[in-house]
Amino acid sequence: MPPSTRIGFGWDSHEFRPNIPLKIGGLRLAHNKGLGGHSDGDVLLHAITDAVLGAIGAPDIGTLFPPSDPKWKGADSVVFLNEALKRMRAAGYNISNLDSSLIMLAPKIGPHANAIRAHLSRLLVIPADCIGLKAKTPEGIGTDNAAIANVVVLLAKAPAKRESFNLTVPDKPVPPPRKSPAKKK
Ligand code: MG
Repeated sequence: MPPSTRIGFGWDSHEFRPNIPLKIGGLRLAHNKGLGGHSDGDVLLHAITDAVLGAIGAPDIGTLFPPSDPKWKGADSVVFLNEALKRMRAAGYNISNLDSSLIMLAPKIGPHANAIRAHLSRLLVIPADCIGLKAKTPEGIGTDNAAIANVVVLLAKAPAKRESFNLTVPDKPVPPPRKSPAKKK
């Protein structure tokens, strides 16, 4: 019998490069640099995708969408996330909750955190209060020109589908209810 819950972990990092758009959690943020990468460089969506894939024991994002394949050049990372969610639902699970930490010097994520959570809520189809998003700065680890995302996700077994009701009309009319015999006086 499959386990009732499963946990997944995802990690990703991308380097900042000038004059490209910055996307975090599917949202475009105003900044003078963006995240380089073969796709749109959305470090948070990549870590979420890997966390979901890992939870169901599926191949990771780099195996499913190899950077060597020109098909994924400049791809919207929502495509990767949706594939992971499709596999998760096929395996019979829903997301219970998700927590994440973003580590970058700039831009400050705090002012955008609620907008990112609201957007993730729509992408993942879970309430925003089931999504944690913490913003950290890379103190003393020498990654000032990188963005790093850590994600954990908990999946719960989806409720079993109900059998469809049999709505066929019976061949014979239903007999009237039997009257109870009259009481003897
Ligand atoms: Mg990545």
